[in-house]
This record gives sequence, structure tokens and C-alpha cells, in this order.
Amino acid sequence: MKYAQVVILKKAGEFDAPLTYKIQNELNGICKIGSFVKVPLRSQEVDGIVIELDTKFPSDIDSEKIKEISEICDISIDFRHIELAKKIADYYRTSLTRSLRLLVPTAIWKGKLGEPMKVFYRIAEKRKDGNVTISSDDIRGAKQKEIVGLLSEVEELDESEINASKATMKSLIEKGIIEKIEKPIYVKPDYSQFPLIKLRHELNEGQQKALEEIRNSEKPILLHGITSSGKTEVYLRVILDVVKNNKQAILLVPEIALTPQMINYFKDFFGPHLALFHSKLSDGQRLIEWWKVKSGYAPLVIGSRSAIFAPAENLGVIILDEEHEWTYKQESSPYYQAHHIGEILSDLYKSKLILGSATPRLETMYKSKIGDYKYINLAERINKNELPKIEIIDLRDEFQKKNFSIFSLALQNKIKEKLEKKEQIILFVNQRGMASAVVCRDCGYTEECPHCEVSLKYHKNFRGGELVCHYCGFKKNQVITCPECKSPHIKHVGIGTQRVEEEVMKLYPDARVVRADSDTTSDKNGFEPIYNAFKKGDYDILVGTQMVAKGMDFENVSLIGIILADIGLHLPDFRSHERVFQLITQVSGRCGRGDTGGSVILQTYQPDNFAIQSASKNEYIEFIEKELEFREKLNYPPFHELIKFTVVGTDLEKLKKHIQIESEILEDIFEVNKLPFKIVFAPAMISKIAGRFYYHVLIRAKNAHVIFDYWKVPKYWRIDVDPIHTT
Ligand code: ADP
Ligand code: ZN
Ligand code: ZN
Repeated sequence: MKYAQVVILKKAGEFDAPLTYKIQNELNGICKIGSFVKVPLRSQEVDGIVIELDTKFPSDIDSEKIKEISEICDISIDFRHIELAKKIADYYRTSLTRSLRLLVPTAIWKGKLGEPMKVFYRIAEKRKDGNVTISSDDIRGAKQKEIVGLLSEVEELDESEINASKATMKSLIEKGIIEKIEKPIYVKPDYSQFPLIKLRHELNEGQQKALEEIRNSEKPILLHGITSSGKTEVYLRVILDVVKNNKQAILLVPEIALTPQMINYFKDFFGPHLALFHSKLSDGQRLIEWWKVKSGYAPLVIGSRSAIFAPAENLGVIILDEEHEWTYKQESSPYYQAHHIGEILSDLYKSKLILGSATPRLETMYKSKIGDYKYINLAERINKNELPKIEIIDLRDEFQKKNFSIFSLALQNKIKEKLEKKEQIILFVNQRGMASAVVCRDCGYTEECPHCEVSLKYHKNFRGGELVCHYCGFKKNQVITCPECKSPHIKHVGIGTQRVEEEVMKLYPDARVVRADSDTTSDKNGFEPIYNAFKKGDYDILVGTQMVAKGMDFENVSLIGIILADIGLHLPDFRSHERVFQLITQVSGRCGRGDTGGSVILQTYQPDNFAIQSASKNEYIEFIEKELEFREKLNYPPFHELIKFTVVGTDLEKLKKHIQIESEILEDIFEVNKLPFKIVFAPAMISKIAGRFYYHVLIRAKNAHVIFDYWKVPKYWRIDVDPIHTT
């Protein structure tokens, strides 16, 4: 007798653990790992997925009580995806049900197990062999005659090509003259027909060399290519390689709405045979995209983070474009990182994994440094243009010069010059981390934690202001004068896009300005209409947030103004410098892409900051080396693992006490295992919502996962393994 472990669909939460069922002999050969099955549960019959097959029944269950699987459905998921779900559940400490839900569209989860089918009509088989002639008595009326006439000429006809009522067709079917057949809508085409149109560019020497190296690499690949070095063209070649080999490709982008031009580009080569996954799909649409991939109809999947779970069972390559982007981390349960999923998949499917960026994540750089990844560099821009020159403007001087505008005099002059030349301008405002840090407007001094080298975060409380470190809980009162220069002009920093737009309209009333931020791009078209209009030249100035930094290709932009580069620096997060470097580089990369060269003006109160300095000189490797030293010294990732727990309670004192007790248990575990560690707890960024207090417990340790071998995570502690935000 064989047994199957079955995860029940629908009832997540109630039946998170798999249940055991018997497989009766006649189903033995066809019940596989990944099969969808119908099983009895209490008095009902429910759907489930087989995740394990055993030959002996689990010893803790009475074998008499084990029920039998009633039916095996036609649909299944690949056993390697089941393997992936198990690994996710294990690493990210979530239930199998939750991790399987990543792989199975909601519509299927809710019971829509059938493949999308199309209806065809044809002359009934038994009529066709000639023995039975169609008696004209059977066919009544002109309409029926017409239909039979039509069908006699062809093999079969699609439902949509027949103009007749349901009753007419039904009558013909009942008389046995015609028959109705169903066929899957999506079937695998001949992959050798791709690309559908001629390629646009010959690869240049650098691209060709990169492609060869990718072809030859057995390891995951980091494609470090400066902005506008032509990475997309290399991806396209790799994808075509894979498809020619009858395999499928997954291309991940940070956000679908921000990459319309890339999708359109690939659409030209693959036509409808492209599956698109993104967060705005309805359940029904997602199901259709899922089947396009499952059936092999789509050799190429493009999508944001979750597209990595597309059912490409013939997987040949996974590409993460702009791999440094934070959208690759899911920030709700299960808190997975797409890079990690990519590694697991490339291992299970023996497929390639390519991470591409002009500013790779420090973790990715580190892996290529120690040889886990193959490092490939594209160091030249396609048009051979130099990267734009970045000029740093010290805002402290402006303040002294009594220029109270948010634009420095240098920026004002440059904007004027570019407007006269009819060249375009992007003004970039970093919106993340607004107004959380305290900076001196005279000397640039920032309040940092003496222990953690991250900026302190301002908390308002009944006593006034308090500055808190989100790593160690260090606290001090808000300062009124700058400890460095005694200036009273020490305050929170933060400038919004609206302010910048107003300033533009005030200083340059004739300029045509458009704003791209969460207000102006929140409808379903997102950034695309603004992107298209700006690209076409309908506007002179684009004021935007992070979204303008992501992979946009604008030919006529020759000036970028970074209004306040400091903002991101003060995020109370150990990644804040890395992030600022990436943003400066990415946003600068938007100019000088066409024939017009480009310049960047970067405004800051901290011109000497290492991230700002190295970014302005394009010294990425040097920056990464130094950051790695810092991370190693302070035991941050990738040297130590990081696990973040979020704990919520209504009674603050009880909550703190509870955390204290659990922390002591955790400390013991690390001590017994002789592992270096640090456990801190601090209020969350938004520490009180609707009368409930939010606390984070942050564990930094070598092999932090060891805690799960000895300790049961208390109920209601939310677990984020490898968090991207630590606050
Ligand atoms: P990246 O992603 O590295 O920033 P892109 O892939 O967007 O760069 O390429 C920048 C521009 O160069 C695009 O307009 C692209 O069409 C063009 N391009 C890429 N490769 C070539 C090539 N080999 N010859 C001519 N133009 C190219
Ligand atoms: Zn000062
Ligand atoms: Zn601290």
C-alpha cells in the first residue's frame, strides 16, 4: 500500500499541515508528487495537492483511520515546484500551504481545475466514413443546411466562426449529424519560429563577449553593465538561445508599470506568445497567463517578482533585470527574495540565472567576489558616450548666500540653459525616508547612533521629540542646537515633488512641467502615459520620484537635478548608503543616452559623504569594497544572517516583558551553539497603530536559522528572514 501526503486547497489556516491518504492500487501509477486530487475530508470531498508519496504509513496515525484518495485530476504541478515550495516553507518559516499558494493561482486554489478550452464543431465522425450518408430529411431548414454545408467543406470550425443559434446546433448534434469537441486554447507552438521579426541590432564587441561568457558559465551570472550599455539586447540573445532549445525563459523586471518599453520590445519578437504577470491582474487574467506558460504556449514570461513562480516546467533561464531593486523582496508572508528563489530554481531545473544591474546589490557583488557567481562586466555605453558628469553642490553654501530656493544657483542656471537649448530635464526627488532624520542646515551634521552608525530616527512623543536607534534601541532627546556648530537650524529634512513642481513654475513660468509620483501615476496606466508624453517631447521638465530612475530610456534628456541626495542617507538602515549610491547612479544614467551629452547636478548638505562622493565619481567597486568592510566589522549581511520578527501587543509593558523573556531563550541558544550573535528590539517605524504597539526583534547572527531547531516561534510573531528593511 502506498500513502500520499496531501495539502488541502481552499482552507488555508485550518489545514496548514498536510494530511495522509491511501492510494488504492488502481491509482498507484498515476498519482504523482504534484498531482491534484479529490479526497474525503469530514463529510465533504475537497481538492488537494499531493506533496509526498510514502510506502509506509506514518506511525503516529492509526492506519485504519486513513481514508482513500477518491480521484486524481487531470492537472498537476511539476514535482520540482513542490520541492521549491518545501524549501520556501523551510527557509522562510512559513506553512506549506502558504508557499504552495505562491505557485498555484487563486482561481485554481478555489477549485477551477480545468484547462481553458475552446469549442469546435465538425461533421460527426461516424457520418464521415461514408457508410452513413446524411439524409436530407434529417436536416431541417435553410440554417441547418447552411451549417452542414459549411462543416462538410472543412475539418472543423471554431465556435466563433459559426453564425447559428444554440438551438440549431443542439438539434444537429442530437440527430447525430454534427458533433461538438473541446480543445485546449493554449498549445505549445514550434519554438523554432521565434523571433517573429528580424533582430534590430548586431551586438557590439562587448555585448558579444558577455553573451559568450554567459553561454559558457555553469554558475549564476552577475551581469554588471553600466547604464545604457545594452543589457536588454544581451538578455534577448540568451532568451532566444534558450527558446531555440525548446525551453522557456522568465524575465523579471522591478515593476511592470515602469517598463512599458521593454515589454513592447519583447512583444515584437514573440507576438502573443508572451505571458505577462503583475500585481494588477485579476484572478481570471492570472489564470490565463498561468495556462499560457503551463501549456508551453508562451516560451517567455515577463513579470514582476511573482512571475518567478510561473509554471515554466521547461525552464532554461531566469533573468532579474535591475536586480538591485527592492521590489524583488516580498514584504508580506512569505517574505521571500526573488534572487534566492532564482537560485533554487536554477538548481532544480539546471537552468541559467542572470542578475543584471548597473549597481548590483552588495550581496550579489559579494557572491561574485567569492566565486559563487560569475562576474561579467559591460563597461561601455552603446553610443560610447561618457557617463554624465556629476557636479556636487553644497547646500550649506546656498544657505550662507541667502539663496532660500530649493534650487541652488548652479541648478537654476543649468535649467535655464537647457530650456533655451530645447533639451529635456529631469528633477529627481527621493521620497523614501522623508523627514525622518535630523540634519543641521548650516554644517550638515546628522544625528547618528554611537553604536550602530545608522542615523537616529525622530519620534514624536508627549515630552516633545526623541531620537531613537532602530538597531539597538539607543535613545536621546531631540537636539535644539547643532552639537557640531551650535546652529539653531537643525531640523528634519524632506522635500516633496509638489514643492519642486511649484518652484519650477515660479522660476520658469514658460516651461512645460509634468510630475510623476504616486499621486499622478496611481491609475491603472501608471507611469506609461507620462513616460510616453515626456519621451515624445510634450514636456520640458519631468519632476519625479524613484520611478523615473528605473531603466527609462530618454534620448533628449541632458540634465538631471537631484534635489536633495541626503534624504536617503538618513534612513535608519544599514543599507541606506548602498541605496543612495544606487539611486544617484540610476537616475544619472537617464541622461546622455542620445547624442546630447549629459550633466547631473547633485544637491546635498553632506558633500563629503562617502556614498555621494563615490557615486559622483562612478567608483562602484571602491564603494562596495568599503561597504563590505563596514558590514563585516559590524556583522551585517552578507556576513551574518538577519532575521526580523514583528511582535504586536496592546499592553506595552507586557509586550516588552514577553520579548525580553523570549530574547533570553534565544541568547541561550546562540551561546550553547557558540555562535556570535546580536539580538535587539526596538519600536517599529510606525510603532503604534490603532492602540496596538509594534515592536521589532532583530537577530543578527552567524547561522541564525539555528534558533528554529531549538525554539518554537511564539504564536503571532511575524517572521521576516533576510529582511530588506530593518525598521
Ligand atoms: P541598459 O539596459 O544597459 O541600460 P539598454 O539595453 O536599454 O541599456 O540599451 C540602451 C540603448 O542602446 C537602447 O536604445 C538599445 O536599443 C540600444 N542598443 C543596445 N544594443 C545595441 C547595439 N548593439 N547596437 C545599437 N544599439 C544598441
Ligand atoms: Zn551644525
Ligand atoms: Zn544603535
